[in-house]
Formats: sequence, C-alpha cells, structure tokens
Amino acid sequence: MALPQVNSSKYSTKLPSTNEVIEFRPYLVKEEKILMIAIESKDQKQMVRAMQDVIKACVYNDIDVKKLTTFDLEWMFIQLRAKSVGERVDLKLKCTACESVNNIGVNLEEIYIENPKEMSNVINFSDTIGITVKHPSIDDIADLEKDAESMDGILEIMAKSVETIFDEENVYNAKDEGLAEVTKFLENLNSGQFKKLTDYYSSIPTVKAKLDFKCRSCGEENELEVKGLQNFFT
Ligand SMILES: [Zn+2]
Repeated sequence: MALPQVNSSKYSTKLPSTNEVIEFRPYLVKEEKILMIAIESKDQKQMVRAMQDVIKACVYNDIDVKKLTTFDLEWMFIQLRAKSVGERVDLKLKCTACESVNNIGVNLEEIYIENPKEMSNVINFSDTIGITVKHPSIDDIADLEKDAESMDGILEIMAKSVETIFDEENVYNAKDEGLAEVTKFLENLNSGQFKKLTDYYSSIPTVKAKLDFKCRSCGEENELEVKGLQNFFT
C-alpha cells in the first residue's frame, strides 16, 4: 500500500547563470545521508557528486546538473540547505586585529552571488593567436584527474574550459584536439599571457556574504567578506 507523503513543500529560486526559475523541494533524510557520507569522506570530488545528486533529486525542472556552472551549484546548494536544515549556519571567524576566533551566526539569506566585472570569453595572447573559453562546469571539476588545488589541477580545469584555439587562418576545436594538446598549448604561454587566463578565472562569480561583527576578545569592529561555498560549510 502506498503510504502518505509527509513532505510536499515547494520553493523557487533563480539559477544565477541563466535566470531560469527553478522549483525545488527541501532535501530529506535520504538525501542528507548522501551528503553526510560525502562530507565524512573529505574528498572534494565525492562532495561535488553528492551535491549534484541531491540537487537532481530535489529540483523539479529538467536541468542537466552536469552542465551547471560552479556558482549555480553553490547557489542551489545554499538554497536547498536553507530550506532543508535552516537558514542559520555558525561560522568560526578570526578577528583581523587579535586573531581570536569568534563564533558568528550567519543567515544564509544574506549570501548573494558576487558578479565581478564580466569578462570577454575571447582571450588574445598575441596579435593573431588566442582562445575562447567558458566557465568551468561542475563536471569539469568533479572529473578532475589531478588534485584541484595543485598547479596541475588548475591547468587541467583551465584546459577543460578552453573551447577553441585560433590563429590567423584556423579555428581549432579544443575537444577535437584533446585535453593533452590543449594543456601543452597552455603550458607554452609566458607569464604575461598566462595572467590573462587567470584574470578570466578570477572573474567567475561566487557566493559571498559581508559579515560585520565586534570581536569578543578585543572589541575590534570587523568587516569581513566570506567567499566560496566551502567557507560556509566547514
Ligand atoms: Zn579581536
């Protein structure tokens, strides 16, 4: 016999990269279990996979969770967390003056997407040679072969987000050339050229909150900016 469903609340939010209205339900015990196991693993890839699975289970729209941008995933996860567990998270923040740790309650509703200045996806390395890039997708990061924090890992993410390489005569499709070739191309940039690429990545939006608190030890008025999903959930 089909038992009654206890939970049927529905919420909506806008997907940051497209402004599409997304309807979702809070996550339930079965999904929380997936997240807990991933958090305990301390493995970034497993964490990303778990968030993808939970978003997929809770969102009513037909979206491809593999193609979400990193900030879409961050945003959706915060909305889900707020409606599922509660809007408040406790952060341990260091005072900028005396470095003592303060416990600060943050309302997840105060988190917004910071959109730094929008940058062209066409990057020119010389008069004739350049690339077009896209924001890395969740899968680019979840499928990473190297450690995401290492230089090799960063290069891999960059190589995966290159769409085309062009010169005066040709446009080469990065997918056709293969990851190894694109990586080699990036490794042959000089530092000035490479900076153009890192500037593009630092312009990728991220979740952010401005937090003001008075230090309990020294009384300093702190004004902090907290950025990136991992800093809201550790
Ligand atoms: Zn202090």
